Amino acid sequence: MTMQVADRAGLTDTGRRRRRNEDSFVLEPPLFAVADGMGGAQAGEVASRLAAAAFREFRDADDLAPEERVDALVQEANRRIYARSREDANATGMGTTITAALLEGERVAIGHVGDSRAYRIRGDDLEQLTQDHSLVADLMRSGRLTQEEADTHPQRSVITRALGTDPEVDVDTFAVGLEPGDVFLLCSDGLTTMVQDEEILRLVHESDSLERAAKALVKAANKRGGEDNVTVVLFRVDAGGPPLDATAPLAPAVDEEGDTDELEDTLSGEEAEPVAPTPAVAQTPPPPPPATEPRRAAETRPRRGRRVFGVVAALLFVALLLLVAFWGLANAHFVGAEEDGSVAVYQGLPYDVSEGFPLYRPRYVSTLHAAQLTEEERSQLFDHELMDYGAARDRLARYEDEGLP
Ligand code: CA
Repeated sequence: MTMQVADRAGLTDTGRRRRRNEDSFVLEPPLFAVADGMGGAQAGEVASRLAAAAFREFRDADDLAPEERVDALVQEANRRIYARSREDANATGMGTTITAALLEGERVAIGHVGDSRAYRIRGDDLEQLTQDHSLVADLMRSGRLTQEEADTHPQRSVITRALGTDPEVDVDTFAVGLEPGDVFLLCSDGLTTMVQDEEILRLVHESDSLERAAKALVKAANKRGGEDNVTVVLFRVDAGGPPLDATAPLAPAVDEEGDTDELEDTLSGEEAEPVAPTPAVAQTPPPPPPATEPRRAAETRPRRGRRVFGVVAALLFVALLLLVAFWGLANAHFVGAEEDGSVAVYQGLPYDVSEGFPLYRPRYVSTLHAAQLTEEERSQLFDHELMDYGAARDRLARYEDEGLP
């Protein structure tokens, strides 16, 4: 029996703690994917978007088996991210997870790298189809961690396999059979670290459409703390009928602010997340509130004194912003890597005002090279956590000692 996509939805949200959303998703029936990027500055976003862009270029043209086709797509995405990380110093060490599903005929092919997940919901059963490639999952499989310990482990977000860190990637690919009504869920760890499987199942069951289910899942993750970006892609298969038009308008969309209380109002009718095919690493952050805004407001008032007050308040506000910025530049440090791969401690903030105008400068360049570190070490060291200079040097020293011959 040939199956078709009967309903689908996708939603991504920054969450409550993070400033940026490094997740991306692909909702192009019969192809679906979730990617969760990692890396300094904006490199995590670049990695996940490069992966999503590679998937969007998928064309149903060759005669490969669906598992082989998914594998080929993941390899292509990996090559692009790896190439970018080699040519762009800001992108050193970037990577992304990918969990993809391709519906063909009577089965769904899954391709998987990292700790995003694919689930199949059939009736009252929710089955996790993928195995996490993560430090805690390894420790759990070898019996050294319980589920409870894994849930709170400080390194629970460290993944052991990613796209973009090596020229080739080992992809888990397999296919699963279908029954009418099966629902597939692809999601980033921002959902599964916050919401238990039973609650995921309950929320999907209680929702009368997948769009509502996607919103309910994101809302639940944020209610539990929203500590990470959260992304969900859902699709339901059914027998026969015309295939769902991939170009039909989509209700689900992106909530950049991570404010799910407003989800109901702000999301309906918007398009899914637009993704530039080749986003630049250095993006201009939003400018400070323009000084003209309060002035214009003041001009609607009749008295001149008020207008002057408005201008002074705006200038003071800009001065305060500059003061905070300079304080941050002088006191904040983070660990990163130079263009040649040398690990370094930077003074400032891990952002570029625009291409070529960074808000940071190297204060100490180590003899340690990024390539000497394992993937996990890189993801721990280059997380761009801000700290004082001494703490940054201490953190580096641990790896420098190990790296010495
Ligand atoms: Ca994540």
